[in-house]
Formats: sequence, C-alpha cells, structure tokens
Amino acid sequence: MRPFEYTRADGLDGAARRIAEGARPIAGGTNLLDLMKLEVETPGALVDINRLPLGGIEPHGEGLRIGALVSNSACAADELVRRDYPVLARAILAGATFQLRNKATTGGNLCQRTRCYYFYNIDQPCNKREPGSGCAAIGGFNRIHAILGASDACIATYPGDMAVALSALDARVEIADAAGGSRSVPVREFHRLPGDTPERDNVLAPGEVITGVTLPAPVGGTQVYRKVRDRSSYAFALVSIAAVVRMDGERIGSASLAFGALAHKPWHDPRIDALLVGEVPSDALFDKAADLLLEEAQGQGHNDFKIPMARRALLATLREATGARM
Ligand code: SF4
Repeated sequence: MRPFEYTRADGLDGAARRIAEGARPIAGGTNLLDLMKLEVETPGALVDINRLPLGGIEPHGEGLRIGALVSNSACAADELVRRDYPVLARAILAGATFQLRNKATTGGNLCQRTRCYYFYNIDQPCNKREPGSGCAAIGGFNRIHAILGASDACIATYPGDMAVALSALDARVEIADAAGGSRSVPVREFHRLPGDTPERDNVLAPGEVITGVTLPAPVGGTQVYRKVRDRSSYAFALVSIAAVVRMDGERIGSASLAFGALAHKPWHDPRIDALLVGEVPSDALFDKAADLLLEEAQGQGHNDFKIPMARRALLATLREATGARM
C-alpha cells in the first residue's frame, strides 16, 4: 500500500472540498481498502466521513430516506425497510458477509467497483484502471462479465445487490457538492454504461458526495430478490433479479424489475415492466419478457451461459412474484 494522508471530516462542506481537491472519501472502506492494498487505487489522501451526520432511516414524504452512512446491516434490519421494501432487505442480506455488512454503508455500496479479475491485477491492461491501456477481459477469461450494454473498451459488470433492489424500487440518490449545492438523481441513472470512458462508474462529479437514498411510497405486492451464484453465500451474482409485482385480481397490476450482474450498471428495461402490466401471468408472457431483456445480449465466450441462465432466472422470478402455477 502506498503512503497516504488521512483526515477526519467534521462537516459536509469541508469533506466535499477535500474530495474536490482529490481526496477519496472513506466510510466502511470494505472495497476501497482492498483496492489500495493491491495498488489498484493509490489516493494521496483519504477523508474519513464517518462522523458526518448522514445516518438514520426516517419517513420521507410518503416514502423513506436512508442516510448514506447507514450500514447495510442496519438497513436490512430496519422495521420499515423490512415491512415496506422487503426486496431491499433481501438483496442486502444476499450480499457479502455479516462482518462486511456491518461496516459497508449505503453510499459506499452504491460506489463499489467491479470485480473484474483484470481490474484488480495491476500487471494486466485495463481501461477502467488505466484509460487507454486496453481490456484484458476481451479475449481473456470473462466468465463473470457483461452480456448487456458492454463496449469495445470494457465488458465489466456492476457487482452489487443493493442497487439492483433500489432500481426495482425506483429510488433516488441524494448528492451534495463542494459549493453547498445538492441534487437528486434516479438510481437508474446513477451508474453508467462503460462506453469509451469505463473509468467512470457513475455520474458523481469531483467533489460530490452521496448523502442519502430516498424511496418512493411503498407499492405493496410481492417483492422477490433472486440471486444465482457459484455458492450459496459470500459470492457475487452471476445473474440477479429484483422484482416488485402487484397483482390486480388475476392480472398483473404493476411490475418493476431490475437485473444485476448482466451489465456495467443495474439493468432496468421499462419495456419489460410495460409488457407485464394488465396481463394474465403465463410462461408464454414471461418468455416474451425474457426475449425483450435478451434482445441485444452478447456473450463474450466464457460467459455465454449467462444468456440462458438469465432467461430461466426471469421465468422463475416471475412465477414466484405473480404466484403463477405453471
Ligand atoms: Fe478493465 Fe473493464 Fe476490461 Fe475488466 S472488462 S479488464 S474492468 S476494461
């Protein structure tokens, strides 16, 4: 690990200023410290934001606000989250381990970086780590990589679970900047596709800090988080699906689905939600939803299996969420 300067922020403005000057914010550090030990990231300065008043889960209009520093464990255990947004609790509990979830925060989880093997190996070319150096995963071992939205520069996936559930719930990310301003971004627009700038994972500008996440009014219905992975715990998803589905009699009244581990960002395709609404659940309908999801899917060789896996996972998720018996 390279030497770095450490300061502890005692105010949001000061923290944002330090970040605008090039410092990296650190809270739980569950991803950043690994990256620093491997010298994938070599920040000259860290600003510890743990003492900022960014904790707490509280009602927000008809919905809920989760502070950026709320730990994943606290969020998953919260009474209101469990009652009104169970897909979020389930997604969080499907990720990492008790120990990591106790340290990892809401804001940090959104900013976690890809688990592409080559990104973590500084001897390999990687456009995300070193723009212009190439992509060792294209033509290399790419079993965990993207089948949707990839580019010639990068085929990495966003690895998290929490943000997939937040996407299905149509949450928003609250962001503060160094000039004292703030903005709110739909979580569906927070992460980016790689394009020709894969070094940028999300839309945060220099000096911006996540202060919280807001959830809209609960929609009820059935909420499912299905995660397909190599082992039953402490493994990243190969395919994951968050589904929030409300039945209206025998028909689907509302549907919101998001997909993880398929792309550089949690994947949301509004055409799938629209296709399902008003229809009677059936395998034929679910197959059409999978056709839409996978219309432009492109395997990279080792990850070709993700295409039929995503189809099967979607069918199983929709059967469960609609209560359909096929
Ligand atoms: Fe780097 Fe992206 Fe290629 Fe992985 S897929 S080696 S993160 S550029």
